[in-house]
Amino acid sequence: MRTTLLVLGFLLLALLPVAAEAGPSGQPLIKVGLWSNQTSVILSADAGFSIADADSKDILGSYKAKEKVTVKFAAAGLVVNGQPVAAREITVVLPAKAPAGIEVNRREYRGTVSVRRTVGKNGLTVVNTLPLEEYIYGIIAREISPAWPLEAVKAQAVAARTYALYSLGKHRDDGYDVCATTDCQVYGGMTAEDARATKAVDDTRGLVVAYKGKPIPAYFHGSGGGYTENSENVWGGHHPALRAVIDYDEESPHYSWEKQFTQKEIEAALASAGIKIGALQAIELSPLTKPPVNASDRGVSGRITELRLIGSAGNTVVSGTKLRTVLGLNSTLFDIKVVLPSEKAVKFEITDSYGDRDTKTVPINTKPLPEKGFSVDKPDIRRVTGRTNETIIFTGFGWGHGIGLSQWGAKAMAERAPTGNTAYFKEILKHYYTGVEIQKLY
Ligand SMILES: [Zn+2]
Repeated sequence: MRTTLLVLGFLLLALLPVAAEAGPSGQPLIKVGLWSNQTSVILSADAGFSIADADSKDILGSYKAKEKVTVKFAAAGLVVNGQPVAAREITVVLPAKAPAGIEVNRREYRGTVSVRRTVGKNGLTVVNTLPLEEYIYGIIAREISPAWPLEAVKAQAVAARTYALYSLGKHRDDGYDVCATTDCQVYGGMTAEDARATKAVDDTRGLVVAYKGKPIPAYFHGSGGGYTENSENVWGGHHPALRAVIDYDEESPHYSWEKQFTQKEIEAALASAGIKIGALQAIELSPLTKPPVNASDRGVSGRITELRLIGSAGNTVVSGTKLRTVLGLNSTLFDIKVVLPSEKAVKFEITDSYGDRDTKTVPINTKPLPEKGFSVDKPDIRRVTGRTNETIIFTGFGWGHGIGLSQWGAKAMAERAPTGNTAYFKEILKHYYTGVEIQKLY
């Protein structure tokens, strides 16, 4: 028995990316930065509670259940209910074994909560420290609908746990492991918990996605648009487990999308992002074809890696990811068409990931303008004249970056899972992450 425990302990240490503090039953504790750079924070709890100096453990004040305590930032230090305190950091202390949550700005959290000065800023940082499993409880419902088939929710739970382990220490310089936003994972505390999500976490307790024995950066996204992408084609980093695979998200409401811009709107968006090319004259990208795609400007799925913008004041190459951010596109898996101002609708021929050629008639939203010259002299150059206000139509597939697990694809797989197979979440994970094992860490 002792040998087994030692081996497990060794495995855990070897697998964790940083030496994390140990929590109950072998799971690590995670420090979540709930807020930073706040001028004031309101603390409370479901049971009577105290505020203590985090370093000396001295009790600075005791309060009744639901009583609100305001912490403010001042140049000299923290101010609790109007009284300056000498503590560098304060923590909320609950009576031992009180089945209560701590309230921060009217949201409820498990574990412990501390408040201190934001590193390098004149504001407050709030950190929630809790066991990893309880942290995952507060993530799932923020990511997917917990009403989805349980095997899909379980796959999401394992991916979220794995990604959390991978992210431990990401914000070490700020004094916590992960933040509570999309930069890490959106975490809503107890307020965001859901009974089915909690069951999915409990049913997969301690399980992670590992490649050659190490937890992977288990990226996930909404919808792959028929095909996911190799990691290096989106963020530049090659990971053997993050390969392009077919996605089963055809029934997803995000499977295909379309967005229209006027030439002026694109010029304004580019300019405000610091991309100064003058009047937009042409956009150069290869046509979207059925995956696997072999084009220098596209990834395996067809996601744009980079495209060329030609303007009156210069040309530039931007990454697909950059253009997606600048224009607020659902994904980088798209094709474009430049449309005459006089046209009221355009026929859009596009090949989806299943090879279906779709002819879509897209109505144009702009007011008709007098017709001006328009030409496409090479099929991969979509040219605007620079003199009129053409409409540029983006027609694309999927939602999100397209790396790793597709949430809508996982749902579709779970719906087709053999009845009663409670291990099917592993098949889902092994489909979206290449060459991985599902390992039990604790
Ligand atoms: Zn973050």
